[in-house]
Formats: sequence, structure tokens, C-alpha cells
Amino acid sequence: MKYLILSDLHSNTEALEAVLGDARRRGFDRVACMGDLVGYGAEPNAVVERVRSLDDAAVIRGNHDKVAGGLESGEQFNFVAGLAARWTQSALSSDNLSYLRSLPRGPLAVDGSFWLAHGTPLDEDAYILNDFDALEAFNGFPEDLCFFGHSHIPTIFSLSDDEGLVLQAPVADEARLALKPGVRYLINPGSVGQPRDRNPKAAYAVYDAATRMLDLYRVGYDIEAAQRKILAANLPHFLADRLRLGA
Ligand code: ZN
Repeated sequence: MKYLILSDLHSNTEALEAVLGDARRRGFDRVACMGDLVGYGAEPNAVVERVRSLDDAAVIRGNHDKVAGGLESGEQFNFVAGLAARWTQSALSSDNLSYLRSLPRGPLAVDGSFWLAHGTPLDEDAYILNDFDALEAFNGFPEDLCFFGHSHIPTIFSLSDDEGLVLQAPVADEARLALKPGVRYLINPGSVGQPRDRNPKAAYAVYDAATRMLDLYRVGYDIEAAQRKILAANLPHFLADRLRLGA
């Protein structure tokens, strides 16, 4: 089974369609998504509906889905994130709001192959940014592979008796990793809709559970179109600017 691994779509239809098109050419069987379908971008309904249209997708909620869905107040959000969350909530159809509210919280096991978490397997709102965060997060799931999101930065942490904790931050537009037996992994494929690693291209991964091969990809998309929609919706200019920077 080949899985298309997606995270942090953030209401960016242009990025999501580019990723789905690129991934379809490469081939996959099932989608797994670590949440934040909405927030920041201008097309929450289109993105939610596209995810809902994906056959048998495994999807968990992100912190933005939780706030836009009305399950949490968002008082912990910064000013721009809070403003975007309120705009998103008012823009979403009641059907799509119900869908966001119904999404399970991670960690979620998928087909006995791997786990999904938004922030960390222990706390959906917390970040895995450094070795300390990663070591703690490895306590949050059994078995050897968990995909996470939230930081919007492609990151591979591995943990084994032989090598201890190792961090890899892939920077190329294509990177391949053969998962080794006896090694545990925490992997962030990066963000589809709002990359923050100074590479503005949309990020995603494909994981082949049969061969245990992981491929990380970056794909260009129509950033200007996404920016125009953000400005037309009167969302903060900053949210359009950062797409160009990948920051
Ligand atoms: Zn996010």
C-alpha cells in the first residue's frame, strides 16, 4: 500500500491541487492527513470538500481545524492566526464545519502501519522543533513510525540503540529515505499550503508500506493566485507575502 502523506493544507486550493496532481502521476493508494485543513488561506470550503472527496482518506484534526470548527476559542493564537480563524469560521458552510468538528484527534493508527499526529503524539498543540521535543514525542506512540505536522518544516527524526537520536532536514525538492529495521521514526513531510522552511513549493510525501521507502517531494504551484484570493478576502497581507517567501 502506498500512502500520500499530507499536512497543513491551510485553505490553499492551488497548492493542494498541485500536490494531488503530482502525486497522482507518481501513484498512491490511500491518503493520510495530519490536519490543519483550514486557517490562513482563502478557500476553506474548497479544501475541506476536496479532502472529503478523497476516497477512504485517514484524516486527523489540527489546531486550526479545532478553532475554526468552534471546539476551542483560539485565545492561544497570535493576532493574525486568530483573525484568520474567525474569518474561516464565518466562511465555512455548516456542513464543512460539522466535518471539521467530527475529525478525530491524533494520534491515530493507520492500517497497523504507522501513526498520525498533528503537533506531537502526546499533545496535538505542541511543536516538535528540537531534539528534546523529539525524544519526548517518541514516548507518545508504540511501534516505529509516526508522521506529524504543525511546524510546517520537513523533518526526519530517527531513534535507535546504535545511532541514538538523529535529525535530518531535507532541503532538496526530492529526497528518498529507506526506513531501517530496528529504528524508530518521527517524520514531518512539510506543509502543503504554507511551507515555512524558506522553500515556497508545496511539500508532501509518499510512503510505501510494503518496501518501507519514503519519498519527500516539493512541487511548485500558482502562488500568485493563492495570494490574490487572500487579499481579495481582506485577510492580512502578511498571509499572502509569506507564501512567496516560504516562511
Ligand atoms: Zn498548520
